[in-house]
Amino acid sequence: MYSNRSTSFLASALLCFFLYSCTQGDVHVQDMTEPLFQQIDFEVEPVTDSYGLPVDGYETERRVIRRNENLATIFSGLGLNSDQVNSAMQNARGVFDLRRVVAGRPLHLYYNQEYPDAPEFIVYDQNLSEFVVFDLRDSGSVYSGSKEVSRVTRSIEGVIESSLYNTLVAQGASPQLANSLSEVFAWQIDFYRIQRGDAFRVIYEENVIDGTTTSIHRINAAYFRHFNRDYYAIYFKQDDDSFGDYYDLQGESMRKAFLRAPLEYSRISSRFTNRRFHPILRRNMPHHGTDYAAPTGTPIRATGDGVITRASFDNNNGNYVRIRHNSTYESGYLHMSRIASGLRPGTNVKQGQIIGYVGMTGLATGPHLCYRFWVNGQPADPHRIEFPSSDPVLVENKYAFNIHRSHMFAALSRPNTADRPGAWSLIAVDDIISLIPERPLVLTSL
Ligand SMILES: [Zn+2]
Repeated sequence: MYSNRSTSFLASALLCFFLYSCTQGDVHVQDMTEPLFQQIDFEVEPVTDSYGLPVDGYETERRVIRRNENLATIFSGLGLNSDQVNSAMQNARGVFDLRRVVAGRPLHLYYNQEYPDAPEFIVYDQNLSEFVVFDLRDSGSVYSGSKEVSRVTRSIEGVIESSLYNTLVAQGASPQLANSLSEVFAWQIDFYRIQRGDAFRVIYEENVIDGTTTSIHRINAAYFRHFNRDYYAIYFKQDDDSFGDYYDLQGESMRKAFLRAPLEYSRISSRFTNRRFHPILRRNMPHHGTDYAAPTGTPIRATGDGVITRASFDNNNGNYVRIRHNSTYESGYLHMSRIASGLRPGTNVKQGQIIGYVGMTGLATGPHLCYRFWVNGQPADPHRIEFPSSDPVLVENKYAFNIHRSHMFAALSRPNTADRPGAWSLIAVDDIISLIPERPLVLTSL
């Protein structure tokens, strides 16, 4: 199964000029491997189907399981005698829990053309890939299997009209791709502020079962133009055991680390806890922040790039600034003597930028900064969170990365060759390998 597939992929590199492409609106989708699979189908007459069951001499029928039906009653109704039904149910033990049959799912019935009175095989689809086969011939048997998942590399590009999600979905691409893309660029681009005219190109792999796309496997490389700035992300595995990660063209991680602390402080006066005695309210309360004691006027810095979501005074928090870093992380800064001028909701801030000054406004007994942090909206202690790695490509892997980056950059930067202006034509990434020089390309345009 696997060797077959890798052979197909090798061959697909050679066949990449026979690209099947479909163009629709702003988005250009190309399927780089499907033509090859079709071609193989022409050459090799299939003897079994995707369930591994015979095709020649059989007629198949599809029957949907209705509410309140069980397999035993369905099987009886199909003309199988009680011995066959009983042994099928017996044989299912240990293979498949008969109580987990779900109404609405299909059964596939295989009738031998020579003995058409009752099906010889019945297949139950557990989900898109896994299935159970009831072999009803002679002594009978029951076994489970899964369909082959093939990977198809596709490319897509678009210009945002309303939202990234709408641009992708309106063209029939998976909404999952919008999520994947916003995760890849979470630190570079605020996807709440995508604007009309922003543009993207993505090379990604889909999982395909029986010709149907079931999910996005992975984004391999992506380009995003936002506010007239270009961003690139390249997926790269440092070694065979690692999960792989996204890097920019310089090999820096797409993720950014937070500053350890938002200020130069004299001491931490109170840590993150779910229970502490509040000095002013004089009762036990959770303290979902870290208090840094520091002289009034000490500059406070944004611990990461982000957008201001709050910059205002209230009686409890005093002068309070809150930053959304991306769709996962937020940070908050309380009791400031003063908020830096010009900060208001919607303002972009850079990591290390001064956003205000230590004070004791609101409920505070002395000058300090109360620093808060949220992960997916839940208060969290940033000193205890294991953030994903934000390390660059290791020096020893830089050469391999540069070669890989050159292919991906070339693929993403390929000039428009389609017959309409603005369309982007991508050839299989594999094909670019033949263009590799001995040394990695030097990307002078960067
Ligand atoms: Zn506090």
